[in-house]
Amino acid sequence: MSSQSANLTVPFHRACIGEEEVQAVAEVLRGGWMTMGPKTFEFEQEFAKYVGSKYAVAVSSGTAALHLALEAAGVKRGDDVLVPTATFTATAEAVTYLGARPLLVDIDPSTMNISVPDAARRITSKTTAIIPVHIAGQPCDMDEIGDFARVHQLRVIEDAAHALPSEYRGKRVGRISEFTCFSFYATKTLTTGEGGMITTDNALAADRMRLMRLHGIERDAWKRYRGDGVWRYEVLEAGFKYNLTDLQAAIGLVQLVKCDSMKGARQAIAQRYSAGFSFFEELITPAVRSARSSSWHLYILRLRLDRLTVDRHTFIERLWHRGVHCSVHFIPLHLHPYYQRAFGYRWGQFPQAEEEYRTCLSLPIYPTMTDDEIRHVIRTVQEVASEFRTPRVIVYAPPMASA
Ligand SMILES: *Cc1c(COP(=O)(O)O)cnc(C)c1O
Repeated sequence: MSSQSANLTVPFHRACIGEEEVQAVAEVLRGGWMTMGPKTFEFEQEFAKYVGSKYAVAVSSGTAALHLALEAAGVKRGDDVLVPTATFTATAEAVTYLGARPLLVDIDPSTMNISVPDAARRITSKTTAIIPVHIAGQPCDMDEIGDFARVHQLRVIEDAAHALPSEYRGKRVGRISEFTCFSFYATKTLTTGEGGMITTDNALAADRMRLMRLHGIERDAWKRYRGDGVWRYEVLEAGFKYNLTDLQAAIGLVQLVKCDSMKGARQAIAQRYSAGFSFFEELITPAVRSARSSSWHLYILRLRLDRLTVDRHTFIERLWHRGVHCSVHFIPLHLHPYYQRAFGYRWGQFPQAEEEYRTCLSLPIYPTMTDDEIRHVIRTVQEVASEFRTPRVIVYAPPMASA
């Protein structure tokens, strides 16, 4: 505590936005076209090229991406959709938009991703789709999920809100399943403030999602108003208002160029964290499985509560108090009032997710962290773990008293 970094405050997240993004937005503003237009289509093309998919459809959020992908996959009222309980509410909420039911599934404790054996136990005759979520950026076992989906004839919609860029068996996430949904929310690895993208190789589905993202209108707005005399349009469906804007796409294009270097920076931080914590028996560091590469969107540390005198809440409070701001990913969905009320989920139904939830905390990890900040996090976590270490009881057997 005597070091010069003792008074540092490390925020949980800080966006990595530079002068290039500011310039790119200024250029769009000067150009005068504010909403979806050429920049958005350029962003879609570059994004598809980057992940290796045929098509990319830009939308206003990751939630909108999930909604449109589920709609294009034909998920409808009365269907069940398999969703891990340990995820953000958006994953399951999008299922409810279509009148379908999120069929929650427990997690594999080693990765915190959806457990396929548990999905096999819970699947119903009405189940039509599965949404694997790559928690923290660690890809799910997509071979296992693909096999499971084939056997049960399920559509696969990946929630890749954390997984840009992640790789599975040498392939970027975004070109593995039929649909992959990304988020460009403020805290995500690539941000446009708000935004999202769906990648697919299915041309019909891409057309459907393009139609539905803008009111079910057959022509995109910029074509209608370009002044080539075409004013006619047709409304083919009751669609949504889910388009991205050129202002956002301009930021996204700059961020995409930096995507690999930003990942490198996060990966380096993760390595330093894990090296710093690996000798602490109170801490469990996240491990990336073989044949995978994580985006390291999150660094989720888990506590060995049996070796600590406090719970996760107090551990986080102490870190926060010393300037290390943490978060928790995620409060399992079945513990929230809505999912309990609407679908009857209860405590005790997903024991692995509950167990991991009790022990996990997310540390700051982003490219703009300074060396001092990284060292401050490592030292503070080490200090707090030591401070709350369960005292080792040395069993001492006194010599037999002689009579
Ligand atoms: C952020 C997030 C989303 C939703 O993305 P938005 O762009 O905020 O709509 C969906 N799923 C997960 C796992 C997320 O973390």
